[in-house]
Amino acid sequence: QVKRSGKNGFRFFDPDLNSHYRERIALENDLRGAVERGELELHYQPQISLHRQRVVGMEALLRWNHPVHGMVGPAAFVPVAEEAGLIGDISRWVLEQACRQLADWREAGHDELRMSLNLSPHDFDSADVVGMVTDCVSRHGLPPSQLELEITESMMMQDAAGVAAKVRQLREAGLSVAIDDFGTGYSALAYLQKFPVSTLKIDRSFVRDLEGPATNPIISAITGIARGFGLQLIAEGVERAEQVETLRTLGCDVMQGYFFARPAPAAEAGGWLRAVPCGAC
Ligand code: C2E
Ligand code: MG
Ligand code: MG
Ligand code: MG
Repeated sequence: QVKRSGKNGFRFFDPDLNSHYRERIALENDLRGAVERGELELHYQPQISLHRQRVVGMEALLRWNHPVHGMVGPAAFVPVAEEAGLIGDISRWVLEQACRQLADWREAGHDELRMSLNLSPHDFDSADVVGMVTDCVSRHGLPPSQLELEITESMMMQDAAGVAAKVRQLREAGLSVAIDDFGTGYSALAYLQKFPVSTLKIDRSFVRDLEGPATNPIISAITGIARGFGLQLIAEGVERAEQVETLRTLGCDVMQGYFFARPAPAAEAGGWLRAVPCGAC
């Protein structure tokens, strides 16, 4: 049961480790073909501008509707997909689906709406990510700037695949690029020059720690960086009214979080485009 190393590093049989490993293999096998079987879904979480009093964007968040385990979140299977070499097909599906949904919403009259989606670092090392994205956007007749690709700071740090060059090409093609979970990685300011992104998303760990008085050095600093570089700013993980108030006071206008709405299927999310969600107000 307990993991023990003997004098010469001998490891006793560990049934926990073994079952964990078996579960992992099973997950990986199930994941193969999940796209073809139509088991993936996108849920959408609104991004609200307080100033404009409307939903200005939607973030597409991946879900796997597993036949046995039910709805599985991305944290449980995206890493598996990455290691098993399955993420390429999944990202392609996410992109296609998100673009189609944005086109539908535009057709319904929401022509200023922005759609954000999350890319994996692996999307930047194998396929022609720039070609894939620009092709999808043009097939769906979308203004490229209204599609926003979210990347993380860790992708910027290990620039082996020439991520910076690809970000530059995406921006030259008119797409928007956001740094997700901003501030949690190694946010050297030099990266902001090397990676010409359009948006910073304040990580929810900073929002979570916001309390009472409207002074917060981290949020103030990030707000200043966004303003200085002319970037859009979105606060993630906003759950409480005090956080909304504090963020507003500190100069952050666009917010996303459970306070407004949890991610939901397109049919429900579409309703928020007509009436701004505010679950808690
Ligand atoms: P993320 O891009 O930072 O997405 C935000 C996550 O925070 C989402 O979790 C969202 O449901 C959750 N969230 C939103 N508001 C709140 C809040 O007020 N409080 C709290 N506690 N959480 C909140 P989710 O959907 O489980 O996604 C987790 C991560 O999985 C995402 O983090 C993203 O990195 C990744 N991911 C999601 N969809 C995709 C995808 O299509 N492709 C790839 N490669 N990764 C994805
Ligand atoms: Mg994201
Ligand atoms: Mg995030
Ligand atoms: Mg994230």
